[in-house]
Amino acid sequence: MIVVSEIQELKNIITDWKKAGLSIGFCPTMGSLHAGHLDLVERSKKETNKTIVSIFVNPTQFNDPKDFENYPINTNADLKLCEEKGVDLVFLPDVKTMYPETKTPILLSIPELQKHLCGRTRPGHFEGVLQIVSKLFHLTEPNKAFFGLKDYQQFRVISAMVKNLNFPLEVVGVPTRREEDGLAMSSRNVRLTEKHRETANLIPRMFALANKTILGGERDIHLLKEILRDFLLTGASVRIDYLEVVDPENLQPKEKLEGEVLLALAVFVGEVRLIDNQIISIQN
Ligand code: AMP
Repeated sequence: MIVVSEIQELKNIITDWKKAGLSIGFCPTMGSLHAGHLDLVERSKKETNKTIVSIFVNPTQFNDPKDFENYPINTNADLKLCEEKGVDLVFLPDVKTMYPETKTPILLSIPELQKHLCGRTRPGHFEGVLQIVSKLFHLTEPNKAFFGLKDYQQFRVISAMVKNLNFPLEVVGVPTRREEDGLAMSSRNVRLTEKHRETANLIPRMFALANKTILGGERDIHLLKEILRDFLLTGASVRIDYLEVVDPENLQPKEKLEGEVLLALAVFVGEVRLIDNQIISIQN
């Protein structure tokens, strides 16, 4: 496995791979890798000749400086996991490499897709995501890029950027990998205390309750949200950032519980912000 931190070194390898006619799969990450990240790698290895993982905790996508400071870093373990999984190249740049000083910063944004969910409660977050992802796409020149559906809005926003700006690559969405009790795997889970980890289990149980309530015939969105909110708030340390029912395509709030809906939430359990979502098909 090749590990590179410098842009020119990365570009030389990409040029060689392209000359040899090899296809490239790219999995951008912020490290502290878990089985969810490795699912992206596995998919990339199946569908492309060479798999690149980037590990970079991107400062421009953190709207909360404390969250950035506390973000877990685990580079040695990450490299070991990548090696075991058969990753071909890990790109491990530092902040100066990705963000040399500039007097003319660019702001990328897809306002229509950023009005709700994390775009609403984390101002500047997706601008940071689009900035780093577009830079990494230019540097790694992937044929396919792999993103987790746990970050559903991120997947939609990046897919829209790729389409609108004609990036020559395909964006692939990979299903959410979960812990045994259903909690979505996340690098942030390690920051949960034992008690809060137990409380976090309310999230997958809330999705089960949502499905059951809809199956039972509930079609009033406001009532459904109230039931789910009340359920989450039985956890003393839970604070709801948002709980929304939106259209999975355009991410606008749904008026009615019909067809396909995306139920998405962000909650703080103690200090740790967790997100999750599920697409629910409603038969009327
Ligand atoms: P992160 O390191 O959190 O920025 O995530 C890097 C990539 O891994 C993103 O595309 C995430 O959506 C994806 N990812 C994170 N957690 C999971 C999970 N539990 N299952 C599948 N993909 C995930």
